[in-house]
Amino acid sequence: MQYVSTRGSAPALGFEETMMTGLARDGGLYVPAEVPTMTSEEIASLAGLSYEEIAFRVIRPFVADAFEADELRGLIKTAYAGFDHPARAPLKQLAANGFLLELFHGPTLAFKDFAMQLIGQLMQAALARSGARITIVGATSGDTGSAAIEAFRGLDNVDVFILYPHGRVSEVQRRQMTTPSEDNVHALALHGHFDDCQARLKDMFNDHAFRDEVRLAGVNSINWARVLAQVVYYFSAATSLGAPHRPVDFTVPTGNFGDIFAGHVARRMGLPVGRLIAATNQNDVVNRALTTGEYRTSEVTPSISPSMDIQVSSNFERALFDAYGRDGAAVAQLMDELRGQGGFAISQGARESLAESFGSGMADEAATLARIRATRDATGELVCPHTAVGLEVADAAERAEAPMVTLATAHPAKFPDAVEQATGLRPPLPSRMADLYDRAERVAEVENDLAALQTLIRDRISK
Ligand SMILES: *Cc1c(COP(=O)(O)O)cnc(C)c1O
Repeated sequence: MQYVSTRGSAPALGFEETMMTGLARDGGLYVPAEVPTMTSEEIASLAGLSYEEIAFRVIRPFVADAFEADELRGLIKTAYAGFDHPARAPLKQLAANGFLLELFHGPTLAFKDFAMQLIGQLMQAALARSGARITIVGATSGDTGSAAIEAFRGLDNVDVFILYPHGRVSEVQRRQMTTPSEDNVHALALHGHFDDCQARLKDMFNDHAFRDEVRLAGVNSINWARVLAQVVYYFSAATSLGAPHRPVDFTVPTGNFGDIFAGHVARRMGLPVGRLIAATNQNDVVNRALTTGEYRTSEVTPSISPSMDIQVSSNFERALFDAYGRDGAAVAQLMDELRGQGGFAISQGARESLAESFGSGMADEAATLARIRATRDATGELVCPHTAVGLEVADAAERAEAPMVTLATAHPAKFPDAVEQATGLRPPLPSRMADLYDRAERVAEVENDLAALQTLIRDRISK
């Protein structure tokens, strides 16, 4: 399988190179040249299989040039062995037609573990074959960073650097990044917003000399392998609710548009995904783009759902690529406008295409807190603020004929202050993490400056 860039001018790559590279050399994101499809019978046959076996069948056609079947099965099994729940991504019914897809049973309590644990296994296997060493640099609004550190800590041939916005992540998120003691783990608190972290990361990838010198690899959701891993739980959830015999709707708490884009890929593979609704917090650039046709960034306003505090939603570029009939030159031009003028207008044709694929809605801070409280009152469940944004938007969109699945993207204990503010209850951490607040922290504060970051990275990996 070949992968092509959304900006049309980087070379096509196989799966392994696509995974190792992250961002394409023309600044674009890799997507499959052609999306493989599954027949109704193949989809029906997934019902009742283990999560790992569904993952194998969904992922296999995308990676067949890089991993043998048995090896892939083994890597998937190892990737999910550390999850707390045997179903990995269990569904919980909250209402007559409303379900939560619990994606927080992995080691760092957010859905990022699904992709990162698998990428950790796949990259390690590829590096063992080649003998190479790599430098992973990631930008995080909180959850990607801890998931990446958890997946790569202690590996011999990998250094992992994580940039997070100083003072803008929850204490649990920060401690998950700063307390691992392995020498190959480097938590960097950047003076700026998440968008600054992500911009500096892209700068590093676009500095080709630096990129080659340190063998830079990316694990942000710009990495295709992450999106791919997330396609799986759309299949597991929909088939347990009756797909392919009936469509299933999904609402997805959205920031960088990676998780929801995975749902779009599942649909293109043949899964009957009914509606796919992007739920944003007050930083609603995606919701505004989908409803007005104008993608226009503004200031990031910190919220109680910090993992969605974003104005430059990277994976939206993948959706634009499809909406523009896979015209890389057109996408490259939009991205130039975004950089130069802070926004762009989506063409009428592309707007219609996006509207067929995605719905959207926004929940502000008050509605999010009210939803956490109402969910607790109605069902006894404590939900994290991101999940509450999803539930609030889903509620407005629920209809009688199809099940509505809201993705529960993080464990409530990862955001205890917001949950306590809403309900008066402080959700406890799972016992395996109970000593998180006692562990020593290790972090370097850094300026929002490319050259300074590059120097620091060179210094640290040369040791
Ligand atoms: C990353 C994250 C999101 C947003 O997901 P995207 O793929 O960036 O849209 C939502 N909720 C939580 C808890 C997250 O960690």
